[in-house]
Amino acid sequence: MRTPVIAGNWKLFKTIGESVALVNELKQLVANIHDVEIVVAPVFTALSRVSDAVEGSNVRLAAQDCYWEEEGAFTGEVAPKLLKDAGCSHVIIGHSERRQFFGETDLTVNKKARAAIAAGLTAIVCVGEMLTDRESGQTFSVIETQIQGSLAGLAADDFTHVIIAYEPVWAIGTGKTASDAQAQEVHLFIRQLIARLFNQEVADAVRILYGGSVKPENVKGLMSQPDIDGALVGGASLKADSFAAIAAFNV
Ligand code: PEP
Repeated sequence: MRTPVIAGNWKLFKTIGESVALVNELKQLVANIHDVEIVVAPVFTALSRVSDAVEGSNVRLAAQDCYWEEEGAFTGEVAPKLLKDAGCSHVIIGHSERRQFFGETDLTVNKKARAAIAAGLTAIVCVGEMLTDRESGQTFSVIETQIQGSLAGLAADDFTHVIIAYEPVWAIGTGKTASDAQAQEVHLFIRQLIARLFNQEVADAVRILYGGSVKPENVKGLMSQPDIDGALVGGASLKADSFAAIAAFNV
């Protein structure tokens, strides 16, 4: 049995005060949801205060990125151990916005994922094809390259600290969701690939989240697919009631 994960990516939204207010509202709404891992990823500056706010609740904290070195002359970067220090249990790595706008590659995603795992964080590693990839029939080969590169060198044991997020780039922030069947097809492909690259036990246990315009209205259909283990949610995670409704997908 894989525990579902519902993770909210707040991107570059909300001040510290707004972040704390949002999580305080959220934690009331999800207090009775115990069979789902609920995660929020505020901006770096809000992490520590949100960490204080979620203490003792069932809401976990993620950062939206990290660096791979522990310390040094790396102006502007944040190390995984500092994210732990700020109260994070998870970190999103390789989000398509970082790949598109900030030069993230499978190699840097891999370095970050390995550093995050070594620091005891759970890495939420994102992959996903562009619309042109899908239209030209390249979806599976793009996903295979991203998974192979992003997870290179990991040991089977590391997967207790890995969550994969499949986020078709054409569905992020566009209001266009992959159909349940389109998402399931890629999730199954990823699980079979993990079995081939690592082993069947790892493939059976790893959580694979879908991301791309997930809303209270479409979450049930997606979550009813056998290989979809949760959601990475952008826009709909910025309001407590919609994110809580997503987290309550099985109620
Ligand atoms: C995301 O940011 O990972 C995402 C899926 O965004 P949205 O839900 O807004 O499409």
